[in-house]
Amino acid sequence: IFITFCALSKAKGMEINMRSDKRRVVLVGCGMVGMSYAYAMLNQNTVDELVLIDVNRLRAEGEAMDLNHGLAFSGSHMRIWAGDYNDCNNADIVVICAGVAQAPGESRRDLLKRNMEVFKSIIDPITESGFNGIFLVATNPVDIMTEITYKLSGFNPRRVIGSGTALDSARLKYLLGSYIQADPRSVHAYVIGEHGDSEFVPWSNALLATKPIDDIIAESKGKLKMEELSRIEEEVRTAAYKIIEAKRATYYGIGMRLTRITKAILGNENSVITVSANLRGEYGQNDVFVGVPCVVNSSGIQRILEISLTDEEKAKFAESCEELRQTYDELNEK
Ligand code: NAD
Repeated sequence: IFITFCALSKAKGMEINMRSDKRRVVLVGCGMVGMSYAYAMLNQNTVDELVLIDVNRLRAEGEAMDLNHGLAFSGSHMRIWAGDYNDCNNADIVVICAGVAQAPGESRRDLLKRNMEVFKSIIDPITESGFNGIFLVATNPVDIMTEITYKLSGFNPRRVIGSGTALDSARLKYLLGSYIQADPRSVHAYVIGEHGDSEFVPWSNALLATKPIDDIIAESKGKLKMEELSRIEEEVRTAAYKIIEAKRATYYGIGMRLTRITKAILGNENSVITVSANLRGEYGQNDVFVGVPCVVNSSGIQRILEISLTDEEKAKFAESCEELRQTYDELNEK
C-alpha cells in the first residue's frame, strides 16, 4: 500500500517528507546556550544525528570538530556535522538558540525587532526544507520568540514549544529542596507565567511527594518559616540576573533543560514540563504563549495540564499573560 501511495504521490508531483529511522536534531545558534545543549546531548547519547547551524559558519564547523573529538569518550555513536537548512528536511526537532545581544542604549522593543528579523532568516528556510517535526525555542524573550516561531512557520501550535519556565521550575525545585532538606526530584512545584519578571510560584500546588509544603512548614515546629518561601521565589526570579552579573551569561542549566525536553519528545515520554505553550481557553486565556505545566511527548505538547489556582494566583497569571500580549502587540505596531 505504501509503495503504491509513493508512486501515486510522485505521479501527482507531491513531495513526501519521511523522517528516517535516525533521530535527528538540528540546532540553530551555536553560542553558549546552543553548545551547552549540544554538549549535554553528546554526553547523554540523546540522538543519532546532530546538525549544527550558525550564521557564523566557521563557528559551527569548529564546534562540530570539537564535539566529534570527544565522541570516543562519550559512549555515543552520534554523527555531528555543521550543516545547512536543507538538513532540517527529515529532522525530528529543530532547536533554536540563535539571537542577537542587546546593543548599548537599545530598547527592548528594538532588540525584539532585530531578533524577529533573525527568526525570519531562520524559520523561512526551515519550513521551505519540508521540515515536519517540532520546534523547540530557547531564545529570549522566549515566550515572544516562540509565538513568533508559531506565526512564521504556520505550524500547529502543539508542535511549537518554548523552554518557558522549565529552567525556573528546576531552580525552584533545587532551592526548595535544599531548604526543606529533600531531594529536588521529590519536590513537585512549578514556576508559571512569563519566563521573566512577572513569573511566579503557585504555592498552593507545591508538594513534597503528595504533602503540601505549607503543611510541612506548619509541622516543622518553627524550624521552617513561611517567609522563606517568598525569598526562594525571589531568588528564582532573579537567578539569571545574578549569573549574568557573575559570568556574563547562563547556559549549563538551560542546556541540560533543553536536553531533558528533547528526551521527553524523542522518547514519547508524556512527561510534565513547564514549557511555553499556546493557550486556547485554558486558565481563561487566549492568544498567548506562556509557561504552564504541559504533557510533552512525540507529538509535541500532547496537552496542557490545567492546575487549580487560588483567586490570587489566577490574577497573577492573568497579569503575566497580559504583559506578554502587550509586548507582542507592541512589536507588531508600526
Ligand atoms: P550567544 O551570543 O553566545 O549565541 C548566539 C548565537 O546565535 C551566536 O553563535 C550567533 O552567531 C548566532 N546567530 C545570530 N544570528 C543568527 C542567525 N541569523 N542565524 C543563525 N545563527 C545566528 O548567546 P547565548 O548565550 O548562547 O544565548 C542565546 C539565547 O538564549 C539568548 O537569547 C539568551 O537570552 C537565551 N537564553 C534563554 C534561556 C531560557 O531559559 N530560555 C536561558 C539562557 C539564555
